[in-house]
Formats: sequence, structure tokens, C-alpha cells
Amino acid sequence: MCAEKNEDKSTGKAVKSEEQWASCLTPKQYEILRRKGTELPFTGKYYNEHRVGKYYCAACHALLFSSDSKFDSHTGWPSFFKPVSAGAIKEAHDRSLGMERIEVSCGKCGGHLGHVFPDGPKPTGLRYCINSESLDFKESVEKADTKKGK
Ligand code: FE
Repeated sequence: MCAEKNEDKSTGKAVKSEEQWASCLTPKQYEILRRKGTELPFTGKYYNEHRVGKYYCAACHALLFSSDSKFDSHTGWPSFFKPVSAGAIKEAHDRSLGMERIEVSCGKCGGHLGHVFPDGPKPTGLRYCINSESLDFKESVEKADTKKGK
């Protein structure tokens, strides 16, 4: 995990050199988040995750997705029909590998998350196909942990 320093106060963006990212991410996380890699389907830790909670960027800890919008896409990657907010992510055209796709990256640190496809369920019709390695899940503790006021 990467500590939240090197944050640009004026933009709120997480700014680090590639050397800094490489030193605080695992090699797998670095390959996906910083080099736009893709984990093999059905190998990540969250494609079959059904607990209630929030999904944060594994690099900068920004809140990205909620279990409320997660669905079983049967693709082998965690899939969501929307991010927590439009600004949480960035989208960009990706013409690599001979395909026309829309890349999804973290709005705060620019880390690669996955792609978005127009074949998702209602209400958005979108499928945000995200690498588990790019995410850090925190289970909701509202029921079990009310004393801490969370
Ligand atoms: Fe991030």
C-alpha cells in the first residue's frame, strides 16, 4: 500500500514518480495499475466477492466503487454498473491490442483500473470491468461495529 503523501494540494491528485509507485505497490499491482496490465480472469480476489462494502484504489486509497453497484458478470473480473461518482474515475479511448475500448483509471492517481463496456445491466447499461489487483475492499462494519461510530 502506498501512503498518502506526494498529494498535490491544489488539484487533490496523488503524484508520485514511477520509482515511488514501484516501491510501494506489489509487482502485480504495479504491472496493472502503472503499466496497464490485466489479471487473468477468475484469478483475482474480488470477482466472486459478495460482501457489503466499498472498493478503494489499491494505489492511492481513493473511493471508487460500492458493493451496491457490483454485479455478477461471469467474466472473471469484478464488475460494476457505475462508479461511486463520475469524478472518481477517468475514462479514455484505448486502441491497444487492435481493439476499440474505453480505459478506466483512478481519478486521483491515474492508476489503470480496467475498461468499461456498453453491455452492463440496468440502470446504466454499463459494465465497469475492473482488475481485483487495482482494488482494496473494505467490508461495511455498520452492524458489527456500531460502538466506533462508523
Ligand atoms: Fe488511485
